[in-house]
Amino acid sequence: EVLDNGLEKTKHSVFDKISRAVMGKSTVDDEVLDNLEEALITSDIGVDTTLKIIKRIEERVARDKYVSTSELNNIMRDEIASLLTENNTADNDDWELPTDHRPYVILVVGVNGVGKTTTIGKLAYQFKKSGKKVYLGAADTFRAAAVEQICIWGERVGVPVVKQQMGADPASVAFDTLSSAKANGADVVIIDTAGRLHNKVGLMNELKKIKDVMKKVLPEAPDEVLLVLDGSTGQNAFEQAKQFSQVTQITSLAITKLDGTAKGGVVIGISDQLKVPVKYIGLGESMEALQLFNKRQFVDSLFK
Ligand code: GDP
Repeated sequence: EVLDNGLEKTKHSVFDKISRAVMGKSTVDDEVLDNLEEALITSDIGVDTTLKIIKRIEERVARDKYVSTSELNNIMRDEIASLLTENNTADNDDWELPTDHRPYVILVVGVNGVGKTTTIGKLAYQFKKSGKKVYLGAADTFRAAAVEQICIWGERVGVPVVKQQMGADPASVAFDTLSSAKANGADVVIIDTAGRLHNKVGLMNELKKIKDVMKKVLPEAPDEVLLVLDGSTGQNAFEQAKQFSQVTQITSLAITKLDGTAKGGVVIGISDQLKVPVKYIGLGESMEALQLFNKRQFVDSLFK
């Protein structure tokens, strides 16, 4: 399965760490729990989320009196999946749109290099494949390369890209994109933005203006403010997520590059801590290498 292959490095790393944590032990005792805590923290799950997981396992041990180490993977799988329940709503396998109005609008934010453009291209591909009419908007007018890249993806996938000249007002590009998309009966609009986190006030104002202008075309827009994070950066992704949350209201997350990293545990921590659902995960560079995040499948893949 794509997910299993994509998560291979993380899976091996988590498996090795847990094996070491329980080595020579048949029962889950305090020492195993201490080792396990370290194993989870070094798997990029994050301290706070790890402590929650350990607490749940402790409670289970206290309740059941005896828990064998051979059951540990199953227990972790259950406890982590249930931990992620309340903040994960994207528990489906299909690319149907959650709203009745059209177009459904996704505003994409994230710093450069995290895989933002690639994720937009992959989303366009998936939506198109599921029979939807897609429009892309090149509102990262700050870098010429950003507009070029998104145009390349537009050609590759076969969907129109609305753009203006470099340096144009991003809000104006967003307005044009939505207007064209609406006039042409599009189902989905995906808009790229510049991720200049080093200028927070500038970014905050820019995103606010984009949102305000979009509402003039479509009062419901944006349906989704999607933050793209690079999973291979582990704890840095956490930090970026926190900073972006201060700049604008994030409604969903895409975590990329999980294929090349052992830090995939970061998905669990981010999903738990941010109270924003992880909606998409990137598992490679190709067009198809994006999946809807399903917490059960994810946890099952990691704790086999
Ligand atoms: P942007 O600057 O955020 O728009 O980043 P790009 O979309 O240009 O991606 C930066 C690099 O990351 C490119 O080489 C992409 O092919 C690569 N990339 C993006 N997503 C993934 C992923 O899920 N897995 C892997 N292995 N590479 C990815």
